[in-house]
Amino acid sequence: MRAMILEEIGKPLVKKDIPKPRPKDNELLVKVSVCGVCRTDLHVRDGDLPHPKLPLILGHEVVGIVEEMGKNVKGYKKGDRVGIPWMGGSCGHCEYCKQGKENLCDDPRFTGYLADGGYAEYAVAQGDFAVPLPQGLSDEHLAPLLCAGLIGFRAYRKAAPEKTLGLYGFGGSAHIVAQVAFHEGKEVYAFTRDGDERGQDFARSLGAVWAGGATEMPPKPLDAVIIFAPVGALVPQSLKVLKKGGRCIINAIHMSDIPSFPYRDLWGEKLIQSVANLTRDDAKQFFALVAKFPIQTSVNLYPLEKADQALEDLRHGKFHGAAVLTI
Ligand SMILES: [Zn+2]
Ligand SMILES: [Zn+2]
Repeated sequence: MRAMILEEIGKPLVKKDIPKPRPKDNELLVKVSVCGVCRTDLHVRDGDLPHPKLPLILGHEVVGIVEEMGKNVKGYKKGDRVGIPWMGGSCGHCEYCKQGKENLCDDPRFTGYLADGGYAEYAVAQGDFAVPLPQGLSDEHLAPLLCAGLIGFRAYRKAAPEKTLGLYGFGGSAHIVAQVAFHEGKEVYAFTRDGDERGQDFARSLGAVWAGGATEMPPKPLDAVIIFAPVGALVPQSLKVLKKGGRCIINAIHMSDIPSFPYRDLWGEKLIQSVANLTRDDAKQFFALVAKFPIQTSVNLYPLEKADQALEDLRHGKFHGAAVLTI
């Protein structure tokens, strides 16, 4: 099969023909149709996340068709459309798994980081962590829902805004979360890079009531914010726009250092919390919700061989919405 392979941290991916993976007894073999490109892929390639499997196939927003099933896999048949998300498996017996917090598992299988992902013609997935996908959306529009959407949804549930929600970094994840928020009758305030008027127009065109630069103040204090951009300086900045009791939720697997800030900005029972990974229950809830209203994802398609370019375009904010590789 064709695959784009990370052989060395910090180096471009290498295009190679390698043998098709063989599914184990608990795995599915999936013929990949498309794979979304996530900022985490960039962090893995850049070496921001420690000890990836090497050589590695990146990609954890994988959409494809079941081609083969290991003998212990239940609930799938050949030809089913399936998604492979970041959370590809958990140990099942650590203290976190036992408490239903498999997202915090001590021995997880993260797709496209600790196990091979979907920048390739085929991928294997643990059957009980694969995600059955709803009808009605094309493969390329579903792909960004598998991480940008799903982990964004977990962040949104943690933010739990009564009415007003600020989103810092209006990209792949935020444009999906915003639609969930609109569906639930919330007001969205979008914060982009300062001076990014196209980004602000994009946010307003989706329905944001206000859009501005990251250092601007919104017209009123907000119930909650979610930070998607991996920029630590946004944390103290965002505390200034929160109401008393407001929540700052950080949806970033890696972030630059958070600068010190005066305690009075946290005073008033404000909360700062990170969001890590996802659970199968998040996936179940999110895709049930997505089936209820027509969520639109704005996608930019790249052929598999242009994976590096997609990653660089993401780094430099060259597109709005999400990048998706077509296999
Ligand atoms: Zn565990
Ligand atoms: Zn991701």
